[in-house]
Amino acid sequence: MRRALAGVGASKGLALGRARVRHPHVLTLSEETIAPEAIEAELARLDAAMQAARDELGGLREKLQGALAQEIGEFLDLHVLILDDPELRHGLRDLIQTGRYSADYALKLQRDRLAAVFQAMDNDYFRTRLDDLDHVIGRVHAALHRRPDDGQLGLAGEILVADDIAPAELAELSRQQLLAVVTRAGSPLSHSAIIARGLHLPMVVGCADALSHVNDGDALLVDGRDGLLVVEPNADDLARYHVARAKIEKKRAQLDRLKRAPTRTQDGMDIGLYANGERREEIAEALSMGADGIGLYRTEFLFMGRPQVPDEDEQFHAYRDAVLGMAGKPVTLRTLDLGADKADNSGLALRNEPNPALGLRGVRLSLSRPMLLDAQLRAMLRASAFGPVRVLVPMVTAREEIEAVKFRLNALAARLRDDGVPIGEHVRFGVMVEVPAAALTLLDYADLIDFAAVGTNDLVQYLLAADRTHEALDGLYSERHPAVLRLLHQLFAQARDARLPIHVCGELAARAEDVPLLLALGLRDFSVHPGAVLEVREAIRAADVGKLRRRAASLLQCRERAEVERWLERVRAL
Ligand code: PEP
Ligand code: MG
Repeated sequence: MRRALAGVGASKGLALGRARVRHPHVLTLSEETIAPEAIEAELARLDAAMQAARDELGGLREKLQGALAQEIGEFLDLHVLILDDPELRHGLRDLIQTGRYSADYALKLQRDRLAAVFQAMDNDYFRTRLDDLDHVIGRVHAALHRRPDDGQLGLAGEILVADDIAPAELAELSRQQLLAVVTRAGSPLSHSAIIARGLHLPMVVGCADALSHVNDGDALLVDGRDGLLVVEPNADDLARYHVARAKIEKKRAQLDRLKRAPTRTQDGMDIGLYANGERREEIAEALSMGADGIGLYRTEFLFMGRPQVPDEDEQFHAYRDAVLGMAGKPVTLRTLDLGADKADNSGLALRNEPNPALGLRGVRLSLSRPMLLDAQLRAMLRASAFGPVRVLVPMVTAREEIEAVKFRLNALAARLRDDGVPIGEHVRFGVMVEVPAAALTLLDYADLIDFAAVGTNDLVQYLLAADRTHEALDGLYSERHPAVLRLLHQLFAQARDARLPIHVCGELAARAEDVPLLLALGLRDFSVHPGAVLEVREAIRAADVGKLRRRAASLLQCRERAEVERWLERVRAL
């Protein structure tokens, strides 16, 4: 029967496919025992599920290629090791044979036993292994319940419906020709959503009823722009879907004509349009869309989903490939921004911080790990021999942090030069403005930097005290809050006074409908995910900066979001 479920659009695009439902892997099963004569069959069931999980991991490993191959490969190898661990296997068999528990309940008991051992360890690295254990147990549990006609590997033609999805996992799944993702939890500002947009994978988050109303194999229609999910669509839905797809294709063809067009406003002002990206495919797309460079390369994505930290050489190769891929255009490499919702598997980011978004994140973590920071800076400096590199430091709050990183960068550059290692002549150095303190004091540290990048995703969450990933706060978290607009206006004015290049690389910059707002506030450089470059260019080309600037005062007087929205409607009609 047809059902329409509402969520929040996190990555636009339409998809029609079969549902693959993944229930949360928290095994909250009640005790379940079996008859003595069922023991052999239950052991066989367990063995088959473990073998299926092993085959799945092996199959995934074989399919991996490109930039993510090593990163995700190591993560998969670790899962095979956990799966083959004699402790896990013997414990499970013993629980079925001696305890006469069902395979499902044995999985839960053995998981809880091992989890208690991991948690008791006085070592962050081991504590983070708990996630991997849960992954493996979840895979075996899913295999225990898989129907014989379910595809064992890959999600080709399928739409994943899950409780939530971690950034590294999304990258892994995207390799399997998945059509779209729908999650019960999540937010469009999460890093998983950012990855989905980079992958052009339609995604709907915050779809509260998804898990209870969708069954494996149901036909699903996903609209990632409007945040809509239709289960078992009817003839009218399908007709609408085909019309909407045709419209999207037509629009895409129109936008494609802008690939080589200048990013120039109606009144002749040239605006900088950069791309955010790190995967090889994103870099290639950025170049083909005519982006002016990479305005944000999130290096933490190299660190996530793997048990070991990438060493200097591995980082150097990744950064150098991006620099070469941009063919002489600048690449802005951001130092590690782990923490908050970006957790790694190597134990660098602390787990169990009471307030992770306010904790040891970004530059704070890097400064607490000087060797890690040095390796990263050296890798960036070495990459700068191949084209213009800009080093960007995330989450700065105080002048001292900027001084400390700059000191390391200069010292390392001098040492590399002394050792005869080629590096670029002038590697530009900048900071992310994403903490209100940094936004309010730009002029106090402008002498230390060559440019600034505004991270509105975080700036808004810290200014409004509203978690960017908290689904229940969706209405409060808003870039159109008057406080955000006034702070941005002040920031852009300060940067202009200090003759400091400044660009916005948060998701706000990628929303074509908000382009007039940012131009009115004084922004002249945007950095957006490659999939949004053409839409943003189209919006900039339709705008008249002179007229918008004359309406900035009325924008700054808005007292609430609704007034800002009315202002936007008025300027659209200009
Ligand atoms: C931001 O905060 O706006 C930003 C670009 O950084 P990230 O999304 O990686 O935190
Ligand atoms: Mg940020």
